[in-house]
Amino acid sequence: MIIAIDGPSGAGKSTVAKLLSKELGFEYIDTGAMYRALAYKAYNQGIEINESQIEEMLKTTHIDYHDNQIYLDGKNVENLIREEAISIATSKISALKVVREKMVELQRRIAANKNAVLEGRDIGTVVFPDADYKFFITAPVEERARRRYEQLKASNIEADYDSVLRDMKRRDQNDSTREYAPLKKAEDAILIDTSRMELKDVVKAITGYIGGNNVL
Ligand code: C5P
Repeated sequence: MIIAIDGPSGAGKSTVAKLLSKELGFEYIDTGAMYRALAYKAYNQGIEINESQIEEMLKTTHIDYHDNQIYLDGKNVENLIREEAISIATSKISALKVVREKMVELQRRIAANKNAVLEGRDIGTVVFPDADYKFFITAPVEERARRRYEQLKASNIEADYDSVLRDMKRRDQNDSTREYAPLKKAEDAILIDTSRMELKDVVKAITGYIGGNNVL
């Protein structure tokens, strides 16, 4: 069984997808981490983000994902890919056709023959259009920025709300207007606005829905 969880940054997708996968005993697959790992490599090696340079980089790049961890060329980079600069670079790199083709193929391969919860932007529209269940998790951008800002503060990372909001709007804009696999709700996805819900209640609602108890 495949469960697709899509939506913009900061809506609570990761928390919901992780809790849900635990509850169901399914594998959790964070597709954003794969794009982030590529952006991390380009950023650190000073590789310009354009189709030809990145196509070249991909020839010698190996991405792997297992046990909820992302590996770049054999090294675990799970804790190195979440900085704001990498987030911005990720939204650029993930717009490239060559990157999308490669990552979609990888994601399908990793999830093949598994029960999995996949989290991303295009899972229900492109990667698994026939997913058993599709959810689109969102909230207004100001609320998502506020949550991200609180998260950064709690982790002692210096941040100010206005720049977090600005970056989030920029990422929303990049992700939803790109030519290939833009962020958008699949027609048959269930929309959940998390601004007035605790994330654990979102998970409850989703498991209820999957169990045939349609409470959404
Ligand atoms: O989900 P996360 O914030 O980690 O994703 C980082 C970036 O990766 C997104 O802003 C988006 O540009 C890209 N992404 C994507 N397709 C996915 C997952 C992530 O384009 N399936």
